[in-house]
Amino acid sequence: MKKIYFTPGPSQTYPMLKQYIDEALSKNIMSISHRSEGYMEMAKHTQQGLRKLLKIPSTHHIFFMSSSLESMERIIANCVNKHSHHFVNGSFAKAFLNAAIAQGKTTTTHTFSPGEYIDMNTISIPHAAELICLTQNETSNGSCIPMKDIYTLKKRYPRIPLAVDIVSSAPYPAVDFKAIDIAFFSVQKGFGLPSGLGILIVNDALVRRSQKAGFHDFSSLAKKEALFQTPETPNVLYIFLLGKVVQDMLKKGIATIRKETNEKARLVEEYFETHSDFGKLFIADRAVRSQTVLVIELGATVGAFVESLAAKGFVVGKGYGEYKKSQIRIANFPQHSVGDFKRLVKAIALFFKQVGK
Ligand SMILES: *Cc1c(COP(=O)(O)O)cnc(C)c1O
Repeated sequence: MKKIYFTPGPSQTYPMLKQYIDEALSKNIMSISHRSEGYMEMAKHTQQGLRKLLKIPSTHHIFFMSSSLESMERIIANCVNKHSHHFVNGSFAKAFLNAAIAQGKTTTTHTFSPGEYIDMNTISIPHAAELICLTQNETSNGSCIPMKDIYTLKKRYPRIPLAVDIVSSAPYPAVDFKAIDIAFFSVQKGFGLPSGLGILIVNDALVRRSQKAGFHDFSSLAKKEALFQTPETPNVLYIFLLGKVVQDMLKKGIATIRKETNEKARLVEEYFETHSDFGKLFIADRAVRSQTVLVIELGATVGAFVESLAAKGFVVGKGYGEYKKSQIRIANFPQHSVGDFKRLVKAIALFFKQVGK
């Protein structure tokens, strides 16, 4: 049976993936030298496509990493001598914090609960902090921090660089890169590719003043990036595939992708708003509810629900960590169509009709 994955990463792969892999094979993309003209043209195409799609200005560099955890590690190594400040309300924000702790940095945190709205006007951050880290879309519990609140924070602390994890929301949020210093994501979420490529976007001002961080100094990365290269042999295949997916997204239009994301989220939200005895949206406040990772509190039904839907070809994610036994997570990425979501909601409705609560 054909399965469709609504898991929050890895997730459903992009519909054209097979065709693009075939194209990479027939063009010998995986055999050409990563210092050759052919490679550089290809990488340039991917970079320029990403710039256009996400409106990344020329003030910001685009570096290819192998994952977002690597991006976190590199961000800390390059930007923090002593002290970083972290907004923490879930497991991925904790991973960013741990990246700093593991490198022996002093860390301070603003800890808040999933679904709690933070008024950035009342936040205070130690002036010794050299970097503020936050997770725009917390995949572990389906909460988000609205971009406008992130800009408010930046306005209040203009001199402290701000790094934003958009791993499970990109390309959905319209990010004003002039207002933030760093953003990063991985391609196995909203780009429908296999895992193994991270995109790290860094303001040039930070590159110029980055710490000596060894082989992956931002400045060494930037030197190679100017040639559309990387210090190491990169994930050439995925850089090619990302270029393809980005072109398709440009053709479809980012506005359409965003509109459809809202429309698909609405289908799930509406179902559980009208059937709250079956399940509840974990994040009650819409202002801080993720549109790209929908988390539903089901209670004891989780096991039967996940199994029954998988048997019909709809693979949804279980809750993260401690929430495994009571929640499900539904990814809403561009590779999921409106039709896919209509069929998913139908299957959910059928499950509750047959099984009840
Ligand atoms: C998946 C995820 C990561 C980790 O990405 P990797 O590519 O596995 O390193 C980090 N942050 C968030 C919010 C994520 O969803």
